[in-house]
Amino acid sequence: MGVTERVRFDERGLVPVVVQDAEDGAVLMMAYANREALERTLATGEAHYYSRSREELWRKGETSGNTQRVLEVRLDCDGDALLYLVEPRGPACHTGERTCFFATLAGEGVGISPAGTGESVGIGAMIERLAGTIAARHRQMPEGSYTASLISQGTGHVAQKVGEEAVEVVVAALRDERVAEEAADLLYHLLVLLEERGVGTEEVARVLRDRHR
Ligand code: AMP
Ligand code: ZN
Ligand code: ZN
Ligand code: ZN
Repeated sequence: MGVTERVRFDERGLVPVVVQDAEDGAVLMMAYANREALERTLATGEAHYYSRSREELWRKGETSGNTQRVLEVRLDCDGDALLYLVEPRGPACHTGERTCFFATLAGEGVGISPAGTGESVGIGAMIERLAGTIAARHRQMPEGSYTASLISQGTGHVAQKVGEEAVEVVVAALRDERVAEEAADLLYHLLVLLEERGVGTEEVARVLRDRHR
């Protein structure tokens, strides 16, 4: 009996899949899989779903490039729901937000954290969230967006801003004032540069991990 035999697909042949970031546990999206999508996910390690609107097998990222590497597939207690633990390569949501669950039910708050988590977000999750928002601005280039205007001025301009912000961190450190603020400015501009150069934050994370061993 194959592993997928234990899954209780519904009358349409589908099973709901909760998708979670393996690194920090963020809930990224919810989708459905049929048996074929699940088998392909297990065989390839890349997230596959079933699109109910398009009525077809859907490999996440096939058009956007925002694929998901699946590190683990879990089955819930009664077999009628799955959990994919993934390493996302880009935003899970087609809007460009990191997670599909970026809005409160009241409707406000694109990009605002879910109630209660705002104060406790660590720097890793914060960098991911910021990188997701920067990528969305890059994709949509909305008028009046500082991020979009930076990117539109090209690599040289963004790189120069990173240099300026780095100097401001140095000055702040020597004066022992506003160090956190200047460090935040440097991180933001560095993330814009990475986005403009097409270097994913996960690529930088991989290098850091390799060096940390
Ligand atoms: P992608 O798989 O990222 O290339 O996206 C292909 C299409 O799938 C998009 O145009 C959306 O219609 C849909 N889609 C992508 N991500 C999601 C998601 N998180 N939830 C629902 N639909 C999605
Ligand atoms: Zn249970
Ligand atoms: Zn269940
Ligand atoms: Zn979405």
